[in-house]
Amino acid sequence: MDELKYEYILIRFGELTTKGKNKKDFIKKLSDNMKMALSSFNGLTFENTRDHIYIHLNGNDPDKIEPVLKKVFGIRAFAKAYKCENDIDCIIDGALKVTKGKSGTFKIKTKRANKKFPIHSEDVNRKVASAILKNYGQYLKVDVHNPDYPIVVEIRENNTYIMAETVLGAQGYPVSVAGRAMLMLSGGIDSPVAGYLAMKRGIQIEAIHFASMPYTSQAALDKVKDLAKLLAPYQGCIKLHVIPFTDIQLEINKHCDSSYTITMMRRMMYRIAQRVAIKNHCLAIVNGESVSQVASQTLNSMAVISQVCDMPIIRPLVTYDKLEIIDLARKINTYQTSILPFEDCCTIFTPKNPVIKPDLNKCLWYENKYDFESFLQKAIENEEILTIYPDSKLQDELF
Ligand code: ATP
Ligand code: MG
Repeated sequence: MDELKYEYILIRFGELTTKGKNKKDFIKKLSDNMKMALSSFNGLTFENTRDHIYIHLNGNDPDKIEPVLKKVFGIRAFAKAYKCENDIDCIIDGALKVTKGKSGTFKIKTKRANKKFPIHSEDVNRKVASAILKNYGQYLKVDVHNPDYPIVVEIRENNTYIMAETVLGAQGYPVSVAGRAMLMLSGGIDSPVAGYLAMKRGIQIEAIHFASMPYTSQAALDKVKDLAKLLAPYQGCIKLHVIPFTDIQLEINKHCDSSYTITMMRRMMYRIAQRVAIKNHCLAIVNGESVSQVASQTLNSMAVISQVCDMPIIRPLVTYDKLEIIDLARKINTYQTSILPFEDCCTIFTPKNPVIKPDLNKCLWYENKYDFESFLQKAIENEEILTIYPDSKLQDELF
């Protein structure tokens, strides 16, 4: 028996299998996203079929590819696949190769897509299992209900593929099939998680950050960039719009009661986010708001604040508890960066008693007291646009 050499990774799709006529576009998008994520590997080729995508490894190490694939949304599961001829002796030889050195329990599941193959699936299962038991019986036992190694034998038109270890993918939809949205990215725990969940549903994100220099430091902005770097691998890179927000905050402080400053500030943030979103062909705004978390996230506050915005506002965390959000932040590896202790623009201008049931007419009255429009325009004119790429130093093993 020759050494085991995997030639393929077989990719199984996630929810997109249910998408009827859009399926073809989705498969193409998923394939393109994988190509982009794996562009540093030389010689990989991709084969799209109706049910799977095959990555031809052409000598690349599949174990190096695995952590990259785990961040590509739209993949339900993937597995290194050993390819052999449609011949029972070759299949048995392949099954012995993929199980060599393993211990625990296994089950053989044969899928006979090629009905011309002369042996029925059940018989293939039996023949392969008895060969494994004969050769490695002291290490491997059969368990048909909950095996450590569900070994899949797929007999297809021209070849058979044998897979021993299936890895769970990132699930969701391929990034960008759902269009583009603007993520309000602070330095906190919530907004990076909101961005991750939006990307998972196929939304390509751009990010907007409101910076309050010199009240906030360069370190606070660097932290936001680091968070964007941690989100970037899911879609290749992220465009980050940094908006100078200090003048607007100072002006708000001058013209309204301190209990209303947060409400007013957030109305301005939404106005700017929407304009920058439209300019950049985004169809929605995404943020990390969660009902009742703080004064500006009561239902009354949300209604008064989002009144300035016509565009859909996607709040992936709207019903999440903080502990649930922290759990996800840990999983996607943003938590440690989010809790670094740098001031952000909201914390510096936070009043002691922020209103929890703001009155819309009062907001409109405050806004009539000064020419806020020229401040908004100036902030947008002075935006700094950065393209943020993944940073290998920041990447950790996922999950
Ligand atoms: P925390 O984890 O501390 O709650 P947060 O970023 O969620 O951090 P909130 O005050 O709850 O802070 O803000 C609600 C949402 O508003 C954020 O999730 C984010 O989407 C947006 N936001 C807040 N501050 C900024 C900012 N400076 N720039 C861009 N978006 C912001
Ligand atoms: Mg929050």
